[in-house]
Formats: sequence, structure tokens, C-alpha cells
Amino acid sequence: MPTMAQAEATLKSVYGYEQFRQGQRESVQALVEGKDVLAIMPTGAGKSLCYQIPAIISSGITLVISPLISLMKDQVNALLQLDVKAAYINSTLTNKQQLLALENARNGAYKIIYIAPERLNTEGFLSFAQNAEISNVIVDEAHCVSQWGQDFRPAYLNIAPFIAKLKKRPVVGAFTATATLAVQKDITRLLELHEPVKILTGFDRPNLFFEVLRPSNRDSALLEFVQKHAGQSGIVYCVTRRAVEETSEMLKSNGIECARYHAGLSDDERTQAQEDFIEDRIPVIVATNAFGMGIDKSNVSFVVHYQMPKDLESYYQEAGRAGRDGEPADCCLLYMAQDIPLANYLIEHSLDNATLDIATARNVRAQAEERLRQIVYYCTGRGCLRNRILSYFGEATTQTYCGNCSACLSKKGEQDVTREAGQIVSLVMALNGKYGRTMIAGVLSGKQNDRIVSAGLNQYSAFGALASLGEGNIYAIIDELLASEVLSQTEGEDPCLVAGHYAKDVLSGDWPVRIPLDRGGRQVPIPKHREEESEALFRILSKLRLAIAREQRVPPFVIFSNATLKDMAKRKPRNRSEMLKVNGVGENKMRRYGDTFLTTISFYLKRMEMCGKADNKQKKK
Ligand code: ADP
Ligand code: ZN
Repeated sequence: MPTMAQAEATLKSVYGYEQFRQGQRESVQALVEGKDVLAIMPTGAGKSLCYQIPAIISSGITLVISPLISLMKDQVNALLQLDVKAAYINSTLTNKQQLLALENARNGAYKIIYIAPERLNTEGFLSFAQNAEISNVIVDEAHCVSQWGQDFRPAYLNIAPFIAKLKKRPVVGAFTATATLAVQKDITRLLELHEPVKILTGFDRPNLFFEVLRPSNRDSALLEFVQKHAGQSGIVYCVTRRAVEETSEMLKSNGIECARYHAGLSDDERTQAQEDFIEDRIPVIVATNAFGMGIDKSNVSFVVHYQMPKDLESYYQEAGRAGRDGEPADCCLLYMAQDIPLANYLIEHSLDNATLDIATARNVRAQAEERLRQIVYYCTGRGCLRNRILSYFGEATTQTYCGNCSACLSKKGEQDVTREAGQIVSLVMALNGKYGRTMIAGVLSGKQNDRIVSAGLNQYSAFGALASLGEGNIYAIIDELLASEVLSQTEGEDPCLVAGHYAKDVLSGDWPVRIPLDRGGRQVPIPKHREEESEALFRILSKLRLAIAREQRVPPFVIFSNATLKDMAKRKPRNRSEMLKVNGVGENKMRRYGDTFLTTISFYLKRMEMCGKADNKQKKK
């Protein structure tokens, strides 16, 4: 039996990652120990690794059942990059290719086989599976088995009968990004999981900024948003094909380069659009929900919903395609009241009634209407958007302010500044009523003016302590403290600040202080030249990555993710062992690309050195 030590070693040597993320260790351990798993992890949490590592280190073959074909191709490509033997079997292969893949599989050529649910019970595949050593069956997008969920796929009901036909029951793992409690129960029942180890990592995606806009004109709101994100990669979702057509035309006529994608286009055009987007040739794609279920592109910086989607499950899944690399990303929903009748119309007309009996169809419809009510509430309510999403998915959360959504940052939104307020109060008390608002705010924001320097206030440890907040926010906190009698002012023409009634409570942390902060006020400034330098190297490395990707005909992030390139640009490795320390560089990637990237970095460093010397010489003259 494989061990956790092997799993850890694989994480490092094959994937180049230092640590498991939340939920990954538990999933890997359960599967390695032969226990079934039900894992609900948000998009971007790193589900694939949870089952790929057990697959790599176990003796048998792992089948990954997945509903969408594009996902398989990307996953298999990514695995081949890591030197893991993998293949997929789906309708994009010709009959001959399928036979060949099965033949290879029979000869033990693959550790991991991705397969569409519709193919499981075909004669050829079944006879292969019944004679092979299948150690794990992984069901991806497992919520598709439930009619309570948003993407019910009847073919998923074939999975349990398929497993029952195997000569030895494999370990079964079910993975999904979104499942309410009812759906979780259905997954366990319908996939016949045996007392699964349940892994629920937080649904929260802290790097995503959520925003709902209620524009009077969608087009201008969208245009403004996209222009603000120039140079970044993003998806614009529309509900109807027609809206995709019109919106992509609108963007193009305003000089935005974009592709369109919906089910009414030819296969060729869809494939082209998808590849152009994934491989970073076109920054923006305008699409219906037909786009994306299998899209595994890590550097999507924004997702805009041009219209309200049909439910929060779809919304969170689609919006969740932003920021998979962990970088900050924006998710914006443009809501208008006329979205509701359109959504109702679609519920009525899009049900696949032919395949469902009357009672089931009625049930499916009632569920859809309830989900619609919930997303309308999301769009029109006043509370924290993140909180609404998390509680919808049954994640108990007491936090009502996340500080990273439009509701929290709107005028009514507030952030906890208790710690900062404490620093202000301490300074006021230390200076013992000698100075007013201007001086106190000046000292904390680190202003080097005559009054502050001559009074020696730049020697205090509080000097510049709140510089990252910005002076405006410091004033705002002082005013809040005055209003709530934490501080008060002396009488007279030049009032000075003194401690008020509740000063001690703020210092002890018992008196929470919240105010609306200006967005961006909290960002810690990075020393300018350092940021520019690693940014410049990052751009150079991205270009190199793009060139390699084009040559190999794979998406750039399959070579290295943005997070990996950023880490590389920051660390500037000079040799192989330093390169292996970069997050996301394992031994295989090192072998394939390490030297190329090292050479580029060393050229860059040499050039910088030369520039540095030139600079110094000039200064000396
Ligand atoms: P999901 O399928 O859950 O949406 P993926 O499996 O596609 O997520 O992983 C998202 C990204 O996170 C990928 O770029 C992946 O390489 C990266 N990743 C996964 N696990 C780790 C880890 N332990 N450390 C660093 N990066 C990771
Ligand atoms: Zn919030």
C-alpha cells in the first residue's frame, strides 16, 4: 500500500509544491488508505492533485469520470508535462483511436484515464475495466448526479452500476466545487459511496472581489469595467446567444479585442475561440454558460456577468474561474430587473422534459425557481456578498463584513479598524493633549514636515505606523473616535485631542471600531523600484513561456502558472537547486524547462548589473 511519505515526496518531486493546501492532505490520505471520499472544494482549491497523487503512487489504474471533454484534454496535457502517463477516452477520438487507447490501456500504458460518463458502459470499455486492476474511480463534478443540483446529467446515474460490475470494488472519490447539503446527500446515495470521508474546505475564495452593479446602461458599465482591466484576461458571461453576439460586437466596435463562444457556433469556431483565449492570444471572451465547465485557465483576472445567471451555484462556479492562481481578481455582476422574467422564461423552456417523468420534472422546476429567488436576493440585498454566498452553501459564518466585496466597501460597508484605532488612542495619550487632529494624523502617516520634525515627533515609534492606511482614512478613524467619545477635544481655537470616556476599552480591544475605508487604502506599499524590477522580469519570463507554449501547442499555464513565474521573478534563481525552490517547479518541469528559464534569468541579471554599473559611473562623474 502506498504511504503518505510517498505522497509528500510526489508533491515535491512531480509537482514542485512545498505544502499541501487545505483539504488536499486529508483527501490524499483517505484515498491512499482505501477510504471513499466526498470532497467539496471551491474552484481553484486544487482538487486535481487530491486524486492525481494517490493515482500516481498506487499500483493500479485510476479512472477519472468527467463530464466535459475540454477539461480532459487540458488535464491530460498537464499530466504529460509532469511525465505522468495519462490518456482520455471520449467522443473526440475516432473509433480507431478509441480502440488504440483501450489497447494501450490493456497493456498498462496509463496510470490515469479520463473518461466521459456516457462511455463507461460501452462494451469495449467495460470489458477492459473488468479485466484491469482499477484501484480508484474518481467522479469529478460529482454534483451532476443530483437532480437537486444545477447541472443534473442523467448519464451520471450509470456510474454506480458500472462500479458494481468491476471484479473488485475500487476506492471511490467524489469531487465537486459546489454542493448544498441536499446535493451532498444525493452524491453519497447515488454514487453508493461507502461511509465517505467528507472533506469540506471553506468555500471562501478570499482573493476574489465580489461586486454587484445595477447600471442604467449595461453596455457602458461593461465597457468601463473592461477598459479598467485592459491587458488582463477575462470572461464576460451572457445568458443568451443573442446577447453574446451583440455584446461582443459592442466591445469590438469600441476597440476591445474579444472572442465569442456559444452553442450556436460551429465546432471549429468554438474550438478556435477557446484556444485563442486559453493560450492568451485574445484577452477577453464573451460567452454563454456553454463555455467554461472544463476550462482550467489559471490567470483569468476578471469574470463579468452581463446578465444575472440562473442561480448562485452557476454564479459561484462561473465567477470562480477568476483568480485560480491565487492572485486578486474581480467578479462583477450587472443586474437589472428585467433579468428576472428572462430567467423565469428560461426555466420554463430549458427543462429537458422529454427525459424526465412528470413528478421529477415538476420537482426540478420548483427547485430551479427557489434557486432563482436566492440569486435575486444576492443581487438586491444589502449585506456582504461573500457572506450571502457562503451561507447559501451552508457554511456557517458569523462574519458579516468581508471587506472585499462591493457591499462591504460601499458607503454603508465598514471594516474593522480596532487595532489602528488603538494606535491612535495610544499616541494621543502619550502626547498628553498637546496636539490636534492634524499633527496626530501627520505623525501616524509619517509626514516629515517642519512642525513634526522640530517637535521631535518623527522619533516616536508611532511615526509612520499607519502610513499604509493613508491620511484620509486616519482622519476618518479619528472622527469616528470623537463621535463615539473614545477621544475628545479641548476647548478653544486650536483644539487638542485627549482621551475620552471609552479610550481604555479601545486599547484593550473590547470596543470594536468599524468605519468605511477608502478602497485600496489598506494596501501596504511595496518599495517601488523592487516591484518594478521583478515585474519586468516577470514579463520577460511570461514571453518565454508563451513562446514555449506555442511551440508545444499547449496553454501557457500548463508550462508554469502565473504564481510560479511571479515567484521565479522574485527569487531570481541562479542555479538548478535554487530553481527547485521556486513554488511550482518540480523535478520534471526542472528537466524540461529549468535551464531555458535559468539562462533567461541570468541574461537578465547580467543586463541589470551592467545598467547598475553604468548608473554608478554616471553618478560619479
Ligand atoms: P480545482 O480543480 O480545484 O479548480 P486545480 O486542481 O485546477 O483546482 O488547481 C488550481 C491551481 O492550484 C493549479 O494551478 C494548481 O497547479 C495549483 N495548486 C494545486 N495544489 C497546489 C499546492 N499544494 N501548492 C501550490 N499550488 C497548488
Ligand atoms: Zn463583503
